[in-house]
Amino acid sequence: YAAKEAGEPFRWYDPELDRSAGEDARIGAELRTALDAGHLRLVYQPIVELPTGRLIAVEALVRWHHPERGLISPAEFVPVAERDGTIVELGAWILHEACRQAAIWRTGDDTDAPQRVSVNVSARQLARPGFAETVRAALTGNGLPAAALTIEVTETAVFEGGRSLETLHTLNEMGVRIALDDFGTGHSSLTLLQTVPAHALKVDKSFVDHVTAGGRPAVIAATLIKVADGLGMAAVAEGVETAEQAAELHRLGYQLAQGYYFGRPAENPVVVRQRQPAAIPGK
Ligand code: C2E
Ligand code: MG
Ligand code: MG
Ligand code: MG
Repeated sequence: YAAKEAGEPFRWYDPELDRSAGEDARIGAELRTALDAGHLRLVYQPIVELPTGRLIAVEALVRWHHPERGLISPAEFVPVAERDGTIVELGAWILHEACRQAAIWRTGDDTDAPQRVSVNVSARQLARPGFAETVRAALTGNGLPAAALTIEVTETAVFEGGRSLETLHTLNEMGVRIALDDFGTGHSSLTLLQTVPAHALKVDKSFVDHVTAGGRPAVIAATLIKVADGLGMAAVAEGVETAEQAAELHRLGYQLAQGYYFGRPAENPVVVRQRQPAAIPGK
């Protein structure tokens, strides 16, 4: 596998189109086979400190290397896996694999290696009884401290029902960090802040995209950092693609960012815009 992703994963059909139940079932069955065959891999995208670009953590993102169709985006197969329940098995593997890799990075010799990992969790996984135990097993099985793991959840996942909220409280008590993903795009984002014991907001790319243009998205981005600060939470600006965006976000008070500008998801993630610490005169 290449160290860096060249671009967007290939799409073999339009995810906006309605698919038949038969097609879902076929993809679900193929996914299980892919998991067994080792065709699913995780890539990791840097989450960096502003303005230095120092690596703070990585987000694990799943990839499907299909032998005939090539690279398939999680935006395509995760929703299918969610509908047919395959996500439970898939998600447990993703958690275990991300914790395994993080433990290797933490115990290795490379002091620049990521020390923390974020894992995306979908609605159905979170709603199931036993999810907290799945997380605990992934941590203890790999010797990873709970504080090195962040679970990323969306509003949809939290309000799915089942055990979701209860599980988030259990994870919090275990010392696992919780991040609210795609923050600001849901219907009741502010309610989330009242009900979920979250440590971080991931401010959605749709606000970051227009942050340098002024207007409403810029005002929202400027306000969300204040909300995070006021609540004692971290805020991560998602989808930063330009130096101008990074500079503006820093000016607004953001201390953490993620996006192609700093580094694409890769099996061995590297920060491509890292500022060397200034040389100390006389040393
Ligand atoms: P997400 O969790 O919000 O992840 C961020 C997505 O934005 C990733 O897409 C990432 O590659 C992309 N991205 C990051 N920086 C930039 C940028 O600067 N520009 C642009 N255009 N895109 C950027 P990806 O990997 O295709 O994942 C899409 C979504 O699929 C994720 O959104 C997440 O909701 C879901 N997903 C990915 N991996 C997993 C997983 O392991 N489990 C679950 N349940 N869902 C996953
Ligand atoms: Mg995420
Ligand atoms: Mg996100
Ligand atoms: Mg997103």
